Amino acid sequence: MTKLLQTSTAGSLPKPAWLAQPETLWSPWKLEGEGLVEGKQDALRLSLADQQHAGIDIVSDGEQTRQHFVTTFIEHLSGVDFQKRETVRIRNRYDASVPTVVGAVERQKPVFVEDAKFLRAQTKQPIKWALPGPMTMIDTLYDAHYKSREKLAWEFAVILNQEAKELEAAGVDIIQFDEPAFNVFFDEVNDWGVATLERAIEGLKCQTAVHICYGYGIKANTDWKKTLGAEWRQYEDVFPKLQKSNIDMISLECQNSHVPMDLIELIRGKKVMVGAIDVASNTVETPEEVANTLRKALQFVDAENLFPCTNCGMAPLSRAVATGKLAALSAGAEIVRRELSA
Ligand SMILES: [Zn+2]
Repeated sequence: MTKLLQTSTAGSLPKPAWLAQPETLWSPWKLEGEGLVEGKQDALRLSLADQQHAGIDIVSDGEQTRQHFVTTFIEHLSGVDFQKRETVRIRNRYDASVPTVVGAVERQKPVFVEDAKFLRAQTKQPIKWALPGPMTMIDTLYDAHYKSREKLAWEFAVILNQEAKELEAAGVDIIQFDEPAFNVFFDEVNDWGVATLERAIEGLKCQTAVHICYGYGIKANTDWKKTLGAEWRQYEDVFPKLQKSNIDMISLECQNSHVPMDLIELIRGKKVMVGAIDVASNTVETPEEVANTLRKALQFVDAENLFPCTNCGMAPLSRAVATGKLAALSAGAEIVRRELSA
């Protein structure tokens, strides 16, 4: 029988201080040239070792080779001018200076495929690889070419599908698309967001996932969360459509959030990565707190479909806190695993 409650993380983990400034998003690299290539690989190995040491079942690269979960992917595409910047409002929440789409977007060469091969060579455990989702990508750009959010999203879906197929061939077991924008633009999600995501996974035989969260633990996000009221019902608007989609797994923020757990009922039948670690707090959860969240989730998702996870990426946290949280996740899952087998 396959192990129940296999643990994983949403994606990013802190980078070593010799590679990039810790506890910072978009932190510039401290190395260059060959040294940077080697440094990224060393960091990936360390990140993998941290996950293994904590007993995480489905491991990742900890996003050690990328500066940012959206920007780094886009940097590898043609049609986007990174010198030409415009200020846009990201996810209706905060202003950021972003690059401009100046022509047809294309993927001239693989983005993460070599990194995925490198990770694959380090471990026999199942590996998960995160890519940005089409809607979140368009929301992080100024579009002076297509002048249509939907049109640009379809273009990105085709590009993501090319990358995903090569990641699958490299031995990735689960390909995850990060779509925090799904928690904001409900009409677009239902009109074309889920459809573009399905285009991105077209023809894949590996498992596919979508990660929908309330964002990293940065100030713009924690301020926004304060405006959402006592019950966060955002998932309710997109779950029915996702339930009918071809996506296998859905990754959610559940720890310390105000998401009513019963919303998970709306995606019955899907595998659910339940966020049982709060990434917006430096307090390391106790295993019992993690177990409590998982027990609540088990009321609405079958045990074989429950995958304990983190709420979001842990890149902005200190390494000590992130390592503690990984261990708590693992220990909390083990408590509930024992209860289930008893
Ligand atoms: Zn997230």
